[in-house]
Amino acid sequence: MHELSLAEELVARCAERAGGRQVVEVRARASTGVDSVELSAAFPVAAAGAAGGVLEGASLDLEVVPARLTCACGWTGELPADNVAGHIGICPDCGRAGEASGGLDLLGLRFAGEAK
Ligand SMILES: [Zn+2]
Repeated sequence: MHELSLAEELVARCAERAGGRQVVEVRARASTGVDSVELSAAFPVAAAGAAGGVLEGASLDLEVVPARLTCACGWTGELPADNVAGHIGICPDCGRAGEASGGLDLLGLRFAGEAK
C-alpha cells in the first residue's frame, strides 16, 4: 500500500530527528495527492516497533494542502483535490499528466515532557 510506505518513510524521518527521545506528537503536511485517512491509519502501524519504539503511541497531526503542478506547457498552479491520483496530476490546460508536487513534509515533533 502506497500510504504505508509513506508512513514508514515519515516514521524513519521522525526517528532520525528524535535521536532516541520519546515522541508524543508528530506534525506533518500532506498534499492532496496523499490519502490522509489511509496515512493516519498507517502511521501507528509503521510506528509500532520502529526505532526502538520512540514513536509508539505518538499522535499524528496532519495538515492537508493542495498539490501543485508545473507543466511542460507552462501552466503552473494548485490542483483541485479531485485532479490528483497518487502523485500524478493532470494539467488543466493541456491535459498532460505530470508529477504533482508535495507528498509529505515533516513539520515538527513534540517530545515527552515538552509543553504543548
Ligand atoms: Zn500543460
